[in-house]
Amino acid sequence: MTFVVYNSLSKTKEPFRSLEPGVVRMYNCGPTVYNRPHVGNYRAFLFADTLRRWLEYCGFRVEQVMNITDVGHLTDDADDGEDKLEKQARKEKLDPWQISRKVAEQFFADLRALGVRPAKVYPKASEHIPEMVEIIEGLIAKGHAYAVGGDVYFDVKSFPSYGKLSGNRVEDLEAGSRIAVREEKRNPEDFALWKSDPAHIMKWATRFGPDGFPGWHIECSAMARKHLGDRLDIHTGGEDNIFPHHECEIAQSESFTGKPFATYWMHSKFLQVDGGKMSKSLGNVYTLDDIAAKGYTPRQLRFALIRGHYRAPLNFTWEAMKDAASSLENLDDLVARLRRAAKGDGAASAPNAGSELVEAARTEFEKHLNDDLNVAPALAPLFGLRAHALSGAFGVEAAGRALAFLTRANEVLGVIEIEEQLLDAKIDALIQERQAARRSKDFLRADEIRKLLESQGIVLEDSPKGVIWRRKSGA
Ligand SMILES: [Zn+2]
Repeated sequence: MTFVVYNSLSKTKEPFRSLEPGVVRMYNCGPTVYNRPHVGNYRAFLFADTLRRWLEYCGFRVEQVMNITDVGHLTDDADDGEDKLEKQARKEKLDPWQISRKVAEQFFADLRALGVRPAKVYPKASEHIPEMVEIIEGLIAKGHAYAVGGDVYFDVKSFPSYGKLSGNRVEDLEAGSRIAVREEKRNPEDFALWKSDPAHIMKWATRFGPDGFPGWHIECSAMARKHLGDRLDIHTGGEDNIFPHHECEIAQSESFTGKPFATYWMHSKFLQVDGGKMSKSLGNVYTLDDIAAKGYTPRQLRFALIRGHYRAPLNFTWEAMKDAASSLENLDDLVARLRRAAKGDGAASAPNAGSELVEAARTEFEKHLNDDLNVAPALAPLFGLRAHALSGAFGVEAAGRALAFLTRANEVLGVIEIEEQLLDAKIDALIQERQAARRSKDFLRADEIRKLLESQGIVLEDSPKGVIWRRKSGA
């Protein structure tokens, strides 16, 4: 089966083929580190992580690069406005370098908590100024860019396919333009590659002038080229990155190298919160701390954010969070039941009973992920296996196979608690000791054991066959 992806560039689903067999070069637009990323940002980053995990499941080696924007991202995403970092620095009475370091560290801690596989490199824009200058100089030399005062602009009319990603044609942009046009620009839509501003704190002396800083778009073109080469297989971002950010990246990179930049462009949809846009005034710009304050774990949040299709709208509510947590608990419960069945506890008499269900589940799982990473229906067969496990009908061998499949599926999902924190045998022994203590009316010891198990996230349940246990989700 082939992996088929929706390419934002062609607006169609296409079979995925990497430029070099067996290797995928993927660039993900990362965070602007002025503020701790929120659940909406994490939807896009977790999409990138799930995509990478799926490609690895398919046998590719993934060279993944996610940038850290620590300079040059202005508040209105265009050529004007304030630098987001400098604005935040003023608010917090820190220097912008301190802000970017602090937020980047927080971001990496969040990624670890969310179980994100580390990228090959997380390049910082501020550490790639020479690479940006090289491209800008090349663009000027080739007639695609021009310097005015200390600023350098990209001439959109020099790149006839400008608009091929977003569908925004230069003529339409001009007709609809209400922005006061900077007189020094050749065309109103020309965008800045380099800006000069003596008042800027994060600035560099270059041949364009003594006090300059890069435009946001050139950063990604330069970092992608430095770490992955002239051509990428996949470039991802949130849907809000399509225009102007990615349109401008394409114009710069392709004009400079003369080669197609990324083969596949993939964009995740915005996350809605409570049915609308996130906003500070509504107090619903949730970070991982807000999730924890409501009693949820990063693992549960990861599940809530990846279980829908990345191109479908996703509405984040506390109700949805609760639902995700309980679904995840069912998957953890499935693992616990399979473990017991694999040991012969409550297993069907035929060792292979249920094996065909495991194979069908695997086929279904892979079929849907191959269809543009359609996680939602890919999960259905996993819950189907649980429905079967509830009737206790897996044989010993089939249960072992199901566990192996879940372990493999979890390589993509990264949410099921497969690892055993406290060895199963140890838990069984403790439960037996507790039963014995209760029989001899040593309630103190029985209670002690119950508390110890609880502290390990083990839930005890009475069943006709005696006490059974499972791991609580999030533990
Ligand atoms: Zn970017």
